[in-house]
Amino acid sequence: MRIGIFGGSFDPPHWGHLRLALTAMEHLELEEVVFVPAAQNPLKRHRSSANGRHRFAMLQELVKNRPGFSVSDVEVARGGRSYTVETVEDFKQIQPGDYWFLMGADSLKGLPEWKQPERLVKLCRLGVAIRPPFHPSEVIARLPDYARDRVDLIPMAPLEISSTQIRDLLAAGKSAAAWLDPGVLRYIQAHGLYKNV
Ligand code: ATP
Repeated sequence: MRIGIFGGSFDPPHWGHLRLALTAMEHLELEEVVFVPAAQNPLKRHRSSANGRHRFAMLQELVKNRPGFSVSDVEVARGGRSYTVETVEDFKQIQPGDYWFLMGADSLKGLPEWKQPERLVKLCRLGVAIRPPFHPSEVIARLPDYARDRVDLIPMAPLEISSTQIRDLLAAGKSAAAWLDPGVLRYIQAHGLYKNV
């Protein structure tokens, strides 16, 4: 079984996340992609705006009717700081297989600061997509030796959007519909999220 784990804050999930996951699934021939919202990202300065329950529910909207996609609450349920190495280990114990941890090139840049990065890249390969202005090949060239040949490129067409931009649009009362799955947008509106960030 070839499985992709896609971790992040997903605050909220947007087209950049979806395009990355879809391209990874096709290119890396993944049978499953599991979105894993973090309880708390140890490397982000700001706490998430929406709580874990909302971010999990928005991802449920995103994966609806998309075969092979699912959401896991392991990190939200565990609470506290979320460490990828622990999450991938949990997955492999429950379901042995070949794993890729998916991310944008901006995240890969920070890999050496993650918890036990050497152990992580032994547990799984890394699937990495362009995230302007960061290009995977430039980031890979600067990685420590132990990680460099553990990375596979996800040939995604660049999409310049972030959750921060979406939160800012929504807080200013502007539309973010162009960047959001309709189900996710409906959820945000129904729960009044991101109004005063
Ligand atoms: P924020 O603006 O709140 O920091 P974000 O848009 O970066 O959020 P995250 O949920 O933190 O979203 O990202 C999860 C993962 O998705 C990261 O590995 C990130 O690199 C990747 N990602 C997010 N947006 C894009 C995008 N537009 N293109 C490529 N990768 C992306």
